[in-house]
Amino acid sequence: MEISTAHGPLRAPCYIPDATRGFVRSVDASDLEAVGIPALMINAYHLMTRPGIRVVQRLGGLHAFAGWRGPIVTDSGGFQVFSLIRQNPKHGQIRDHEIVFRPPDGKDKLILTPEKVVQTQFRLGADVMVALDDCTGPEAPAPEQRRAVDRTVAWARRAREEFERQLAQRRSEGPPPLLVAPIQGGNDAALRRHCAQALIDAGLHAFGFGGWPLDEEGALQLEMFAVLHEVLPPEAPLFALGVGKPDHLAAITALGRPAVFDCSLPTRDARHHRLYCFRDAPDPEGAPVVAGSNFYERLYILDKKHATDPEPISPYCDALCCRRYSRGYLHHLFKCEDPLALRLATLHNLRFYTQLSDQLQRHGATTG
Ligand SMILES: [Zn+2]
Repeated sequence: MEISTAHGPLRAPCYIPDATRGFVRSVDASDLEAVGIPALMINAYHLMTRPGIRVVQRLGGLHAFAGWRGPIVTDSGGFQVFSLIRQNPKHGQIRDHEIVFRPPDGKDKLILTPEKVVQTQFRLGADVMVALDDCTGPEAPAPEQRRAVDRTVAWARRAREEFERQLAQRRSEGPPPLLVAPIQGGNDAALRRHCAQALIDAGLHAFGFGGWPLDEEGALQLEMFAVLHEVLPPEAPLFALGVGKPDHLAAITALGRPAVFDCSLPTRDARHHRLYCFRDAPDPEGAPVVAGSNFYERLYILDKKHATDPEPISPYCDALCCRRYSRGYLHHLFKCEDPLALRLATLHNLRFYTQLSDQLQRHGATTG
């Protein structure tokens, strides 16, 4: 599947990193290009709080600001705001028509409405924008899940109207941006189905997996993805927001619908010394990725055994880390807490994910 944007096509299935505040920690845009990253996921809410949307506009919009030439997806920030308010009601109130949010760092309160969230993402110049939704945790009781679905649908309708207004006001070259509506419903298949159908009826064309993609035990809510696969039109782009582990990418792709995945796991793991490696050469015979087959492992670079290891992290990685340096050297860099360790490790994990994306695009995935 190919999503056209003003900054080039975005091919699914693919993984895109979370550049939450406009950057992926410890690497720059040219580093990201070198390991084949196709697009960035940036959080509109975080930019609202710092440096402010006006500053980004004065610096030429989000692409110029971040030095990124490819597509940019911006998340509404609803997920973060809801988590903070649910953790501590002092942080604000969720009402049917708006969210009043007091950021923990004590700055001015923010009022988020579906309209304002769309306007903000237009001002940033996003290629793909996400509508404000009401996020629930997997443990939320049924009435709360239903209320979240009702609000999410009502807000998506308002977001779409604002989106159309903004499009009509702005004449720009190339394909218009895309508006993604997250689908809520928690762990309830009937509710997920209802939410998806209501969003389709409301005229939305692209969708996101809303809420938390894992259940309370940390297992992927694969059945909920299967529901979306049944309900959504085959050509509708799907953003698997916050997913995930390499095996989750394979399992969801095996359902038959290509999705765009974004997740902070590989970059966070890299900073915590956990590095991803294929067990065998990826893609030797054009075979699909087999979900659940342990096709990869994670090594812990601080393990003593790596201190004297002259081999690269992975023989299948062609990124800077493995072209030029040994496990022993990376171990040493981490021990010395040099920032170069973070850069090399981050590039390594991102390259693993782009290799996995390539293989999923070319050969798909199966469950064995
Ligand atoms: Zn590598």
